Amino acid sequence: MTVLAGAHVFDAETGDVIRADVRLDGARIAEVGLGLDGPAVDCSGGLLIPGLIDCHVHVAFRRPESLPRSARILEAVPVLRGLLARGITTVRDAWGADAGFKHALAQGWIDGPDLLVSLRQLGPTGGLGDAWDPAAGAVDNYGDPSLPDPLFDGPEAARAAVRRMVRADADWIKLGASGSLRAVVAGVDVRPTDDELAAVVDEAGRCGRDVLAHAHTSAAVVSAARAGARSIEHGTFLDDSAVAALADAWYVPTLSPMSETEFAEQHRRSLRLAVEAGVRIAAGSDMAPRPHVDLTTELRLLAAVLGDAAALKAATSEAARLLRLDDDRGRIEPGLRADVVWLAGVDLDVSDLPARVRAVWHDGQPVTSP
Ligand SMILES: [Zn+2]
Repeated sequence: MTVLAGAHVFDAETGDVIRADVRLDGARIAEVGLGLDGPAVDCSGGLLIPGLIDCHVHVAFRRPESLPRSARILEAVPVLRGLLARGITTVRDAWGADAGFKHALAQGWIDGPDLLVSLRQLGPTGGLGDAWDPAAGAVDNYGDPSLPDPLFDGPEAARAAVRRMVRADADWIKLGASGSLRAVVAGVDVRPTDDELAAVVDEAGRCGRDVLAHAHTSAAVVSAARAGARSIEHGTFLDDSAVAALADAWYVPTLSPMSETEFAEQHRRSLRLAVEAGVRIAAGSDMAPRPHVDLTTELRLLAAVLGDAAALKAATSEAARLLRLDDDRGRIEPGLRADVVWLAGVDLDVSDLPARVRAVWHDGQPVTSP
């Protein structure tokens, strides 16, 4: 049992900051209030926030240089450890990590956040998940039984692709509802049909899974959202019809990878349009294995549009709700998991979170010593 004493606490529902102590008991938060007794860590002058949740990472992408396959997996080890040390206690991998990473984390072979995996991104021939090369033909740099073939053509094949992912232990089904940004801009955007999208979402649901859909264009966002995807990723070019279609979904804008491109302002405009329409926002960094681009970068970019409190909610309570984990984490409340980050200073300013992290508790265990 540990009492985090004298701190201010971020309320991830209201966005307010209150004065309170927090008692951790094992893996759970036992009590939040003033004057709690017990062995204390003096957090006065600091702010406690829930462990951060990144809804869109890639902890195990290949590097562009030609390296043996083991490099992709071994590089993820320090990446995962670094995320946890910066207060990111849960991540949803949007493809690249297989179920073996979860096993290694559960066994304690490596340290890192709780990991949800989606394995590969499903899509049609010529779509997002197709790595066909004009000279070499079918190229599969990820070909591995634990990362099954994601290509499908037709609704029945789409169902089979979902089943292949579920068989390999995918927690989420990742779908390419539009092509890559490069393909969209080049006008070669091969998209699944509405029947194929519906088949993916229906089959995922029958298997107890939800769908996250990569979509840059409004047309792709509308199709994926209408088919029932639970979250729409990127949404670079949103219009009124797209934000209207997002009424029952979460929007995970992933501003980071676009932030230094010619589309950055248009992307921010899409986010503002969605916020004005009341669309629920969850945070995702689209992090490739580069520790300098992670959720803390995304929070700074989100805060520039949403403000600090709403950005933090997107990475805590709203992210947990999207991932159907809100009964378990995402807020500092009795009964929820003891995933807590202690920041220096009491203000909500998220512009440089890594510099403010004093200590992190994950599942009640100190990750970095207070
Ligand atoms: Zn991504």
